[in-house]
Amino acid sequence: MQDAGVVIVGSGQGGFQVAASLRDDNYAGPITLIGEEPGLPYQRPPLSKSFLSSKAQPGQIELRPAAFYADKNIKVIASQRVTTIDRATRRVTLASGASLPYRHLVLATGARARMPAIPGAKLRGIVALRTLTDAKVLLAQMQPGRRVVIVGAGFIGLEVAVIARDKELDVRVLEFTDRALKRAVSATSGDFLASALTQRGAKFSVNTGATGYTGSGGRVTGVITSQGESVMADLVVIGIGVEPNVDLARNTGLQVQDGIVVNERLITSDPLISAIGDCARFPASYSDSSLRLESVQNAVDQARCVAARIAGKDEPYAKVPWFWSDQGVNRLQIAGVAQADDCAVLRGDIATAKFSVFRFRAGRLTAVESINSAGDHMASRKLLANPACISPEQAADTSVKLAALAVAL
Ligand SMILES: Cc1cc2nc3c(=O)[nH]c(=O)nc-3n(C[C@H](O)[C@H](O)[C@H](O)COP(=O)(O)OP(=O)(O)OC[C@H]3O[C@@H](n4cnc5c(N)ncnc54)[C@H](O)[C@@H]3O)c2cc1C
Repeated sequence: MQDAGVVIVGSGQGGFQVAASLRDDNYAGPITLIGEEPGLPYQRPPLSKSFLSSKAQPGQIELRPAAFYADKNIKVIASQRVTTIDRATRRVTLASGASLPYRHLVLATGARARMPAIPGAKLRGIVALRTLTDAKVLLAQMQPGRRVVIVGAGFIGLEVAVIARDKELDVRVLEFTDRALKRAVSATSGDFLASALTQRGAKFSVNTGATGYTGSGGRVTGVITSQGESVMADLVVIGIGVEPNVDLARNTGLQVQDGIVVNERLITSDPLISAIGDCARFPASYSDSSLRLESVQNAVDQARCVAARIAGKDEPYAKVPWFWSDQGVNRLQIAGVAQADDCAVLRGDIATAKFSVFRFRAGRLTAVESINSAGDHMASRKLLANPACISPEQAADTSVKLAALAVAL
């Protein structure tokens, strides 16, 4: 019987990487990559960086040119949503009505932007930033002098805010919690980046959410805040996080819990289906509870792990997570995963805009946030492989060479 091969649902960062890594690992069977977005697989990070600042064109953010897929015999089906999975017959159905068989199925369905369901939410001019289409819409509206309200001081909100200031928009950021990047980094790093933004002329309101929008002629004209203020806006950017795309998995009876639940080999509750990237919830040796991470590193390394297993090299997923965010002149790099109450130890001088914050839990290193300190970040990725190897005192002492500690491991 003909090999039904590997079918990958979702042609984003992770889906693309499964296909590419399968060929790197000498997998010779059929590979089909199905994505609901138009065009070839592309990178999302530039959407809130070089693309939005008009320094990159759509073609420049594609992961590979069309010839790559032809050379590698990878079938790409674009602009097609997978609507159902029939696990009994091992087939997926597309929105077009076509269906195709699989030997192994990989779900790399990513996540979608969360949008507040508040009065006025359907007005034009309220945008999220998840896809290239979103980015094109946003870019077209970022005209100098316009007033943009950014709801949410997470990574995407802050990156957009910096570029909007560079483009001479009037920028107001609303953050529901008491500080920027509260979910992701220490107060030291979050406050530094928020302060850099206000120095660039953005206004920043904490403990302030959006409770509704005002509009005229179907277009947004303002945001009503939880403080009772009405903030004028020509454009509203929503950056309040994402929801994993799990409907397909849930509807076919796979275990789902804020993400598609997988084991340490990234296999779902069906041994013929794997899940990776933003949509997957996996057990991590360095965390008490399972995790769902949203980063390029996570999607790429999980893709490589699944591809290697399908190609015959079965190993559990065990990579140190890392992430970056570019905000104007400042680059934040994070290695590891901290919990909100992990203690924070400063290394370096905040005033120089070059420092790191080491996070510890019960004396063990959990994460390192580095601002404009690539050397600290690279060493930290090695240190995190053995979290007991550095003490808070050593972390704070800049005469202790991190690279030397890492090499000694
Ligand atoms: C603006 C922006 C900036 C970012 N910046 C950074 C950064 O600086 N650093 C970093 O590490 N990470 C960054 N990220 C996060 C990173 O891009 C994601 O973590 C990564 O893309 C996840 O890859 P993925 O394959 O899991 O999902 P995605 O890349 O989102 O791909 C999932 C794809 O599946 C498709 N899909 C979903 N359901 C179906 C279906 N039923 N049928 C067919 N197709 C389907 C989706 O449309 C999508 O195209 C950023 C993300 C955004 C949006």
